[in-house]
Amino acid sequence: MLKPIITGTQVAYYIVCQRKLWLFSKNISMEHTSELVEIGKLIHENSYQRKRKEINLEGIKIDILDAKTGVIHEVKKSKSLEESHLWQIKYYIYYFKNIGIEVEGIIDYPKLRRRERITLSDADILKLNDTLSKVEKINNQSFPPPVINKPYCKKCSYYELCYC
Ligand code: SF4
Repeated sequence: MLKPIITGTQVAYYIVCQRKLWLFSKNISMEHTSELVEIGKLIHENSYQRKRKEINLEGIKIDILDAKTGVIHEVKKSKSLEESHLWQIKYYIYYFKNIGIEVEGIIDYPKLRRRERITLSDADILKLNDTLSKVEKINNQSFPPPVINKPYCKKCSYYELCYC
């Protein structure tokens, strides 16, 4: 069953760090303090500008929807946290499928001059159903999940909040 209030960013954060998901879902934002986030936004704003058609449906924010080919694109800075990129775009394909629209996905890495085509299998749908239930459960917790102590914590916008 589709839960449209869960965003692609929340699905991605669930994969990266459940604490990050919880902080983000509670509207605790420290994005402006991270230089890496600023660089990511610049790449985002300057890449593929001619093709850019950002759409926002019930909180589902997609970088580019090519209506002619039925392909949605997500633009990413690097392949670190690739698993989260993968599930974010699979969730968008899942979302469209649930409203009766068949699409494919492409993840663009403009800095690396790479792109990857993404599809959605029946097993992916089962995994996403489970993920969405877990995201909802974490969002409803009154306390944050624990700090995860991963190398990428140092690049996270919540680093100071978690470790100081
Ligand atoms: S700093 Fe680490 S533990 Fe804290 S929210 Fe970010 S990824 Fe999670």
